[in-house]
Amino acid sequence: MKADPAVQRQLLDLAKVDAELTRVAHRRRTLPELAEIDEAEKAVRKHRDALVASQTAVSDLDREVARQEKEIESVRAREERDRKLLDSGSVSAKQMNDLQHELETLTRRQTALEDDLLELMERREALQLDGQRTGAEVDKAEHERAAAKARLDENVKDLDTTQARREEDRAKLLPRFPENLLKLYERVREHKGIGAALLRARRCGACQLELDRSTISEIKSAAEDEVVSCENCGAILVRTVESGL
Ligand SMILES: [Zn+2]
Repeated sequence: MKADPAVQRQLLDLAKVDAELTRVAHRRRTLPELAEIDEAEKAVRKHRDALVASQTAVSDLDREVARQEKEIESVRAREERDRKLLDSGSVSAKQMNDLQHELETLTRRQTALEDDLLELMERREALQLDGQRTGAEVDKAEHERAAAKARLDENVKDLDTTQARREEDRAKLLPRFPENLLKLYERVREHKGIGAALLRARRCGACQLELDRSTISEIKSAAEDEVVSCENCGAILVRTVESGL
């Protein structure tokens, strides 16, 4: 393939633009905020699950507390009824004895129930405090996620701007190249990442391989408008005074 050496040299401008586009694409995939958002998302889920578990435990305890209170209430009602009966003076001596005995039992039962209730309330309070702490952790994780997302958006916006500018540069450069040269460039770029590079000090600017003596002499003897490629990576080797030929 043949191409005007001046046109060949302009491939270096195109390769520079494309290298930047490749960097932008790579940066887009590897922005640290992507991992940060993932981490924050995991934390949000973990703390939310813990919060739900804590809220469930609190409402279970609420039900238990209500049951306990109802039980205490019914013991109290029974005590009150027994006392009224005792106070009425309308019961026999045996009944009075039975009632007193029952009242003692009921009092012991009430004390035990009240102790249990107190313990339930303490557990509930501890769980509620725990829930408040977990709630604060959910807020913190959500805040971190939002902050990382905002930083990501900012960086993506910058990348969008850079990409748009380089694509503009690219569109301006493309009409300078004959179709076959551009096709070769694009094909190599697609497969190897770099379509053209400067041959500098006998080294391929794309794969950095130092060319051997016979290859150098072949390139040296090739016509100026001959398009030469690196036999290692396929990149179009652009020759300038820096090439060391
Ligand atoms: Zn190479």
